[in-house]
Amino acid sequence: MAIGQGLKIKVNANLGTSTLKPNLKKELEKMNVAIKFGADAVMDLSIGGNIDKLRKEIVKKSSVPIGTVPIYQAFAGNDLKDVTEENMFAAIEKHCNDGVDFITVHCGVTKKVLPFSKKRLAGVVSRGGSLLLKWIVCNKTENPLYKNFDYLLEIAREHDATLSLGDGLRPGCIKDATDKSQLLELRVLAKLAKRARAANVQVMIEGPGHVPLNEIEKNVKLQKKLSGNTPFYVLGPIVTDIAPGYDHITSAIGGALAAYHGADFLCYVTPSEHLCLPNVQDVKEGVIAAKIAGHAADIARGLKGARKQDDKLSFYRKNLNWKKTFDLVLDKEKAVAYRKRSKAKKKDCTMCGKLCALKGL
Ligand code: SF4
Repeated sequence: MAIGQGLKIKVNANLGTSTLKPNLKKELEKMNVAIKFGADAVMDLSIGGNIDKLRKEIVKKSSVPIGTVPIYQAFAGNDLKDVTEENMFAAIEKHCNDGVDFITVHCGVTKKVLPFSKKRLAGVVSRGGSLLLKWIVCNKTENPLYKNFDYLLEIAREHDATLSLGDGLRPGCIKDATDKSQLLELRVLAKLAKRARAANVQVMIEGPGHVPLNEIEKNVKLQKKLSGNTPFYVLGPIVTDIAPGYDHITSAIGGALAAYHGADFLCYVTPSEHLCLPNVQDVKEGVIAAKIAGHAADIARGLKGARKQDDKLSFYRKNLNWKKTFDLVLDKEKAVAYRKRSKAKKKDCTMCGKLCALKGL
């Protein structure tokens, strides 16, 4: 699975247990649904139940690359003050040993950004970013993932794991977008990405977050410029804060624009974002929304062959060949269900009925 300039936009689906009612079977079901509907990668963000067992099952059963955030496990079930640097690196090694393909490491959450993050409306919304900032304050020391970056590179190189430099300070609301803490962190991540490449370690940078439409282009271009074109893995961006329940849409709008301007990898957002742990249906909707965003950007960027499926589908649609049209849609189950709901016969369609524009041409 290749991610980067000149390639098709790829989509990641997050899953993983919560500390409340962890259900391993359900998470595996989500993984299968995500892959079925076109996720190019899956991240296991588990923090509850038997985390090791689920990760091993996911790595074994997945047909797509798997990512994790190892420090979640170092912090899961432990008091912040009891977590040591060794615990964090042990979790990283364990995940790499288990064969995960990429790991999110929030190396850019440093002591220097702490004062700026306090000025925010939404504060620090990244789980990893928030844990590390609290840990830095509690231990009065620097972020170990930043301080010992060379050691991290050694582990990644030894296991051929890709580093996904996490944006622990991504904006969690429109008002915080492109603020000082986000940009300071981006500068740190850009430098680290160059060090990773120099050390022969594959790397990508994670990006915002909540960003208004008019700031997306400059965010992407700045990341590319500062980091020497490192693949950009964006979490959304969510373009308005007012639509909980529909954040697969707010993020697909931002994701399409980000990808059009050069982002390479879209992390899906589900309708349950900001509300609760996604269920299987939410995962499906999140994947499809992100696939639409990525595909729309592939077309607009002129990726070779990207329009083929659209042109084929439009040919069959023009000929009212519903069966062949359905074979080309992203979500056949939904399209067929709508068609059935209309109870239309053969080539009829209940939208315009006898005034169908496509008939008789
Ligand atoms: S009836 Fe209207 S919506 Fe349906 S296929 Fe014909 S033109 Fe399209």
